[in-house]
Amino acid sequence: MRFFISFDMEGVAALTSWPAFTPKGPDYAYARRQATAEVNAVICGLKAGAEEAGEPVEGITVADSHAQGLNLIPEELPREVNLLRGFPRPNYMVEGLLPEHDLACFVGYHSRVGQPGGLMDHSYSGGTIYEVRLNGRIVGETELNAAYAAHYGVPVGLISGDAALEDQVAESLGGGVVFVRTKVGITRFAAVCEHPENVLEKLREGAEEAVRRRNELPLYRVQEPLTLEVDLTETQMADLLELFPGFERVGGRRIRITSPEMPVLYRAYMGLLLVAWSAKRIRQE
Ligand SMILES: [Zn+2]
Repeated sequence: MRFFISFDMEGVAALTSWPAFTPKGPDYAYARRQATAEVNAVICGLKAGAEEAGEPVEGITVADSHAQGLNLIPEELPREVNLLRGFPRPNYMVEGLLPEHDLACFVGYHSRVGQPGGLMDHSYSGGTIYEVRLNGRIVGETELNAAYAAHYGVPVGLISGDAALEDQVAESLGGGVVFVRTKVGITRFAAVCEHPENVLEKLREGAEEAVRRRNELPLYRVQEPLTLEVDLTETQMADLLELFPGFERVGGRRIRITSPEMPVLYRAYMGLLLVAWSAKRIRQE
């Protein structure tokens, strides 16, 4: 069996605000240690699941996908892990995901921007994206990454994060996915937190259960051709984006991308994010 893990940080146990787990924040060392332990707990559960199924584990790919992709402590991961780090990457959070993978896990995830009760809610970029719709439906990182995986026939077996993400996943991906809840948001930057050790235990058990369910897991397939509509936070982002073929400006801050297939659309969206992010820096004030 081959497994793919996409790791983000906002959904890691007991983390509640961005400044706390940036390099100068009080939670930085804890965040990296716990993040690595959570990924290891998932790997442990996946291996146990494969063993139970009587199948060898032939590959584990981990894409470190929060911010610059430099969060997990490399030497604390098992030696067989194929670790993808750094930024930018054309397929960012799903870099390294291949048709050969049997199962994908999204660890430490968070809800899309605007999801009620969402802790640190955003959709790839808090500073540039107001809302994203795929074929008319509001989506976040979870749905876009799941749609990318589905294109290659890879189901999502386990997702971990806060309660608002759990609601979102139930609505979009459905109930078949194992969800490990790590905290319940009070506001965007405060939460009631599960003990980190309990989260590790639930992740281990959840990953094992996901392997058991591997043949029943639904694929998050989206009807092709695809249309992605992006509402940006600032007008000059759309001013720059409309210069590129493929980015159609359909409103003051709205860009539309159409594509026959998901991986192409995903990469176009990554390009959009980088241009929008650069455009943020040319404000005249
Ligand atoms: Zn993140």
